[in-house]
Amino acid sequence: MRHIPQPLENESPRIFQRWKNRHRGAKYARLKDGDVKKAIKEALISRQKFICCYCETRISRGTSHIEHIEPQLGGLSAKTLDFSNMAASCIREPKKGDYIRDEESGVVSPHSTIHCGHARGSHRVISPYDAKCESLFSYSFSGEISVNPDLTEVADKNLAQDSITYLNLNSESLIAMRKIAMLETVKMLEKGIAPADILRELSGKLPPFYSAAKTAAQIFNSSRNTVGNTANS
Ligand SMILES: [Zn+2]
Repeated sequence: MRHIPQPLENESPRIFQRWKNRHRGAKYARLKDGDVKKAIKEALISRQKFICCYCETRISRGTSHIEHIEPQLGGLSAKTLDFSNMAASCIREPKKGDYIRDEESGVVSPHSTIHCGHARGSHRVISPYDAKCESLFSYSFSGEISVNPDLTEVADKNLAQDSITYLNLNSESLIAMRKIAMLETVKMLEKGIAPADILRELSGKLPPFYSAAKTAAQIFNSSRNTVGNTANS
């Protein structure tokens, strides 16, 4: 999960600010104006550099939804219309059949095609606006995301594991795509392309699975350095 600077209220689209001025005290459920929602989503996607706030898949307006970092809780949250509480998460409108849930825990199964904001419901997960979000996870070439083994605080370990579980970050499709992103990164490194060029932002877009690709580059470089050191000793 890549850390994203939290949006400021005054960064929100003008059309949204005007709507809020006309609807004092309203909750998000009242926001039906398609143009306003479109402007909010486009602003969020752009500041996230076209990757999902949780899983880092490529997103566009047609493949994402507006996620509330503090869940709306049926309108009980006081932040349902705070731009600083919104992010763009993958998957627009899931169909009922996309979900496979464990009856008892309500947790979405890795066999589901659903993950991120839609899988989460109201469960507590790490916010991509929290500066420590990047340190909670590690990535392996199998394509799996896991709890960073270097974590020492139990609360952090639990939060990392809950985030993986409730966001379904190890869904079959995400594992497969993450694996490809990591292996493609290595292929490019083997061709001599510099990590900075592989991970570079192009036309405002970061490569999907940026964090996993970055890890792949770090592992590749450290293994090459180790081989180099052994050869030199
Ligand atoms: Zn996602």
